[in-house]
Amino acid sequence: MKQDYYEILGISKNASTAEIKKAYRKKAIEFHPDKNPGDAKAEEMFKKAAEAYEVLSNEDKRARYDRFGHQAFENGGFGGGGGMNMDDIFSQFGDIFGGAFGGGGGFSGFGGFGGGGQRRMKGSNLRIRVALTLEEIANGVEKKIKVKRKVQAAGTTYKTCSTCNGTGQITRITNTILGRMQTASPCTTCGGSGQMIDKRPADADAQGLVMSEETVSIKIPAGVVEGMQLKVSGKGNDAPGNGVPGDLLVAIEEKEHPFLQREGDNLHYDLYISLSEAVLGSSKEIETVSGKVRIKVDEGVQSGKILRLRGKGVPNINGYGRGDLLVHVNVWTPKTLSREQREFFERMATDEHFQPKPEKSDKSFFEKVKDMFT
Ligand SMILES: [Zn+2]
Repeated sequence: MKQDYYEILGISKNASTAEIKKAYRKKAIEFHPDKNPGDAKAEEMFKKAAEAYEVLSNEDKRARYDRFGHQAFENGGFGGGGGMNMDDIFSQFGDIFGGAFGGGGGFSGFGGFGGGGQRRMKGSNLRIRVALTLEEIANGVEKKIKVKRKVQAAGTTYKTCSTCNGTGQITRITNTILGRMQTASPCTTCGGSGQMIDKRPADADAQGLVMSEETVSIKIPAGVVEGMQLKVSGKGNDAPGNGVPGDLLVAIEEKEHPFLQREGDNLHYDLYISLSEAVLGSSKEIETVSGKVRIKVDEGVQSGKILRLRGKGVPNINGYGRGDLLVHVNVWTPKTLSREQREFFERMATDEHFQPKPEKSDKSFFEKVKDMFT
């Protein structure tokens, strides 16, 4: 007689979806193979709970189960007891634990066993964000960052897994009408690594890992872009035994610059000059990613003119040279005038010399583009 699914999860017949999820989460943690290495009874409970959850978490399957009981799944479809393999169960976890097993635990995943043979466990990846100034992005930078990662505790020893004798696989032979069939599946006791913990210090977790804080040096190349992810191999969490550590994934964030705006590899700078500077010309100091530079503004410069400082932008991340710094000239018009100043401009207003006479080179960007197509 198969055990009732509600009974397995310890919930009532009218449990809500959230209650079902919560109950399964509790059972999965309690009977997780990592916590109960070599305990066949725990593994059985783990599988039963997974099967119960698989049915009760699905509205349609739950309705069928409520009406027909276990008979609802007798013929094909979702097989009865033991119908789920460990890979199926662990693939459920994304939904239940929201990556908690990947992030907080040791193993990064249980998929991809195929092929066979002993499998080297990979520790889980760690993710951090690093905020960079535009100067750091343009020039490249080496950041030293404190990272909390799980490492193998000193004094942890391992022994050969007794369930699979160190092969990492369980082989089953079944008799079918086509003859004897051999199927191999990863060992659930050791997760396929072939090893089990022998001794571990009191402060280590079930996988023999302890939390440690380390300063990791991260070389950030020039030209990185917001949202880009860099990988520092082997600086994620350690894996138990002979496994390899996971990676440290570094997400790039770009801090806002007070004067410079980035557009791809180019930078933009708004330069404000006075009316007199526009008329008489001047020399102005400009902020760049490699310090201040002085530029010459010609006399008679028009507002809206763009001065291009070649190679003063951001280096291309793929090595295609360096962007430019585009200086946008803005002529600053005073909002208030003294009586004498007003008289001066009133005289200029009627002076033919001050009337706009734009030449082709003074035309706006859009007009220039228009010219290109006509
Ligand atoms: Zn094993």
